[in-house]
Order: sequence, then structure tokens, then C-alpha cells
Amino acid sequence: MKNISILGSTGSIGTQALDFIAKTKNEFKVCGLAAGTNIELVKKQIVKFKPSMVSVSNKEDSEIIQKWCNNKKYKTKVFFGKEGLIKIATIKEVETVLSSVVGAVGLEPLLAAIDSGKNVALANKESLVMAGSIIMERAKEKNVAILPVDSEHSAIFQCIGKENKKSIKRLLITASGGPFYKSNKNFSDITVEDALAHPTWKMGRKITIDSATLMNKGLEAIEASVLFGVPMDKIDILIHPQSIVHSMVEFNDGCVMAQLSNPDMTLPIQYALSYPDRKNCYIKRLDLAQVAKLEFFYPDFKKFQCLNIAYNCAKIGGTMPAVMSAANEVAVRYFLDGKIKFNMIPKIVETVIKKHKAVKTKDINKIVEADKRARIAAESAILKIR
Ligand code: MG
Repeated sequence: MKNISILGSTGSIGTQALDFIAKTKNEFKVCGLAAGTNIELVKKQIVKFKPSMVSVSNKEDSEIIQKWCNNKKYKTKVFFGKEGLIKIATIKEVETVLSSVVGAVGLEPLLAAIDSGKNVALANKESLVMAGSIIMERAKEKNVAILPVDSEHSAIFQCIGKENKKSIKRLLITASGGPFYKSNKNFSDITVEDALAHPTWKMGRKITIDSATLMNKGLEAIEASVLFGVPMDKIDILIHPQSIVHSMVEFNDGCVMAQLSNPDMTLPIQYALSYPDRKNCYIKRLDLAQVAKLEFFYPDFKKFQCLNIAYNCAKIGGTMPAVMSAANEVAVRYFLDGKIKFNMIPKIVETVIKKHKAVKTKDINKIVEADKRARIAAESAILKIR
């Protein structure tokens, strides 16, 4: 049995991971769960998985859950806040931590998990965008594996396998294209509902909006560059509406390796948690004759400005990707709250990055500081346009 902890247990990846674990029977023991404010779901997860430690966002909720656990005679200890997240990330008996929190909040617990020698199944792409080189160096030092849970990166990881990294010619990251790659709809008229209607993947709200603006692909290109040590000019994006090919690697000799399956996050989650083993199949098996057609197109960088912004920020490097990602998080939140229009998301991000002077740094505090300032700058840019 593998002992694991999940950061972000009530989110889209966290719940799918727990569904998968429940099906495997005796392959995994869930030792720790960290969640936000969905305390009813946390209670259900405690009943089902009996973790030794749980953490939630705030103190009041943690007290409510602790009392409830005591009444039920569960031995679960309940924590809260950033310290709580770090506790769950560093539980002594845990071997692999699944980090599936959304946004920059995932960075410090991720580093804590690495420092305490845990392998990390990583779904939190924002922390790699913020501080990728620091994370990868730290993981190398501690001799722990960073196993990508993002479907594209899981695909690339599998395609590279034991190949020599020097043999890689380019990475081809596929994108469903989101709901608007073919649409002629004016971006200012796109509603929250339109943008949340993703054609192929079932995901959390923030990433679904990022998929609609294609910022998600920009973040993923940066994530891939960091994870696999491939420069941005060797990373291309291909729109692939069927979401069957999850990404590809082209090698020097012209060989292209691809990983295919039906679009279901269970597989990349399972691969990262079970690695290096492959056991049972929990998804619908792929029938290519039934799919019949696989299409690929290059994306329109002019229409999807976020993609352009992400590539430019990655080339500048230093603190710039962190600033971009932070500004994007704020803009997406305002869009989801109905407070700004869809077409304003790239404009807000652009306003914030234009004012930022990127610095190269190995100091995590400086990156966190740049992230905080970017959030303030994004809020004030939003105030000006509203
Ligand atoms: Mg992805």
C-alpha cells in the first residue's frame, strides 16, 4: 500500500483522485487531506477514507470539523490555513503528495513536500509557472520525482520515457481549443456560462476559463519547458478538438511519439499515483475506429492574445511568468464573478506585465512578493476599467 496525501481534496482533481483510489481497494492509504471551505464534502471524505490529518482554509471550520470528528470518535486531527496545508504536505509516513490546489497558494506546500522527501504528483501548474527552476532544482537535490498530473505533461512524460533528452526536437502540446476556437462570436459578448461550457474535459472553473482564453495552453507550455528542460521555441501548440492525442514529442530523427486515450483525468491521476506500475483500467477504453477522425490545427495567436502573452512572458523569464499568472488569476476571478468582460482578461494581464520589471532570482520570497504586487496591480487595473 502506498501512503498518500491530497492537497485540494474537494476540487475537481482531488475528488477524481479519491474516486479512483476508492476503486483500487488496498493500493493506497489516504493519510492526509487538505481542502478549502467545502466542509460538508470534507466530512464525507473523512468518513470514507479515515485520514489521520485534515486541513481546511479557516480556523472556524477546522474547529467545527474537529468537534464533529471527536463526537464520531474519529482520530483525525484537523488543522487550518497555510500551516495546515504544509502539515498535510509533510506527514511523516506519506510517500506521494498529490498537489491539486489551484493557483499560487500551492507553491509553499509543494516546496515543503519536496523538502521532506516526498514524491509529488503535480496538478498545480501555477507553482511551476511561478518558480519552476527552483522547484526542479530542489526536487533534484532531494532526489524526489515530480510526476505531472496535467494530461498533456503526463503524455509528454510517457512519450519521453527512457529516451535521451538530447534527442528531443520539439514538444507538441495539444489543446481542445476550448469553446471558442472556431467561434466568430465577439469576445466582449462571451458570458460566464458560454466560457464554462468546455467541449471535451470536465474541470474546475478557473482552468475551464483558462482553456477558453487559451491562457491554459500558455501556462502549460511554460510548465512543459520547466518540467522537461526544453526551451519555449521548441514547444508548439496544436488545436486537436477530439482531445484523444494528449500531446506528442518529436525526436531528432523525425519520429513522433504520441500518447492517446479517451479524455478522462482519471488516467493521468492514476499514472502519477501508481507510477511506475500500470494495473487496471478505470476509464472507457479507446476505440479509434469509433473516433474515426483526429484533426489538428495551429492556434490563432492574434485571436487568443493570452497565448501570445504567455509565450512573451516566458521568453522574458525571471519573475515575469509569476506576475502574468497572478494577474490572470485575479482577472479570471473577476470574470467568473460577472464583474469584467471576457475580452478584458488579456487586457488586464497585459496592463500588469507592462508595468513589471522582471528580475532573475532564486529567492522564493521575491517571487511571492512579485505575485502579491501583481494581484494588487490587477485589482487596480480592473477598478480603472469598470
Ligand atoms: Mg492540461
